[in-house]
Amino acid sequence: MPSETIPVEGEVHLKEDAAPIILNRHPWIYRHHIARTNPANLQEGQTVRVFNAKGMPIALAHYTPSSTLALRILTWKPFTHLDLSFWTQRLRTAWNLRQTLQIGPGTPTTGFRLAHAEADHLPGLIIDVYEDLAIALCYTAGMWQARNLLFQALRTACSFIQAACFLWVPTNQTEYFGPERPSPYPFKEHGITFLADWKEGQKSGFFLDQRTNRLRIAQVPAHRLLDLFAYSAPFSITYLKHNPHAHALAIDSSAHALDLARETAKINGVADRLTCLRARAFDFLHQTTEQFDLIICDPPAFAKHEQHRARALRAYTTLNRLCLQRLKTSTTQNHTAFLATFSCSEVIRPEDFRRMLFHAVHTCGKVTGTIPHAQILERLHAAPDHPEHVFHPEGAYLKGFLLAIHHL
Ligand code: SAH
Repeated sequence: MPSETIPVEGEVHLKEDAAPIILNRHPWIYRHHIARTNPANLQEGQTVRVFNAKGMPIALAHYTPSSTLALRILTWKPFTHLDLSFWTQRLRTAWNLRQTLQIGPGTPTTGFRLAHAEADHLPGLIIDVYEDLAIALCYTAGMWQARNLLFQALRTACSFIQAACFLWVPTNQTEYFGPERPSPYPFKEHGITFLADWKEGQKSGFFLDQRTNRLRIAQVPAHRLLDLFAYSAPFSITYLKHNPHAHALAIDSSAHALDLARETAKINGVADRLTCLRARAFDFLHQTTEQFDLIICDPPAFAKHEQHRARALRAYTTLNRLCLQRLKTSTTQNHTAFLATFSCSEVIRPEDFRRMLFHAVHTCGKVTGTIPHAQILERLHAAPDHPEHVFHPEGAYLKGFLLAIHHL
């Protein structure tokens, strides 16, 4: 039976050097900031009261001793009851925000992110909604253990949600609540039907963060579009719906993703203008001689940890240089091509990505003999249902540029 309140099961006392984190209200506290716990053998996923070095209670948190990121702050009010009304309130606040963005049931966008973890004061918990189905990705044992209560809270805060699948990301365990829903499950984004393959697909079954960028990029003029790391090709399909004379080539290394792409293209009547090719993006770029008016490059995270940053930046540079070489530009005709390039690596900061572009354009010039004229038209980021908490800059993981490329 669902428990009605998450009990506080222990104490975590911090060292003096955690003081700046506390002052800055950063939601993460690392293991090396912990002086001691009480009891000494606190378990994974337990909820704890956090004390500063002076012995003052300051917060409640989920405890993950197996991770260097040992504490995720649930509330800075250390005597809060973590009961149904607490969780319902958090989710209601999240849902109220989404309503101000004109997304959700009854709008042209019925697939959206309801809860964006730390940014919605729900650390370690992501909830993506497709119509009446919620897919909850729990990144901590604490959130996974709260799933019964969270489902009740979801039903109370968002009455349109009928069913939910909870996934404990580190272990791949799942639990399903409510009436059965098929996978892939159709939903709408800007009025276009897409499929969330929440059982077999990646993440929650669809990448919702690129929603606003898909619409923006659909305004860029092009005949021939290359969609690299396409997944189920929502960039291509949005583009083709808005541009009836365009053709797209979608590349992904996953056959399953491309099956979804073909099915989605069929549903939307654009299958005759979408070619899907299973390939590794780097191999394809090295081998092809084709040229494109628009390239969208949306790779998976190349760096998951700080120590892989430099290597990842080199990979982004090569990838973007190869993309630039495949754009249809001409030194004699005044033809402008476009590149929309992204990084979803949390450890790659926006200024790193900007510097990477400099190197990519420069090395493109070295390889081809002429440095292209590259203009940043827009900086792109995740859609606003993936907000960034001001105290948690790490949450701004998705960054991109829309570039115009030509030769002067
Ligand atoms: N652009 C997509 C999301 C991309 S996620 C969207 O808008 O929904 C990253 C994708 O890259 C995944 O589908 C994954 O299968 C694919 N991928 C990973 N490594 C790859 C590689 N080396 N070459 C091509 N695709 C790759």
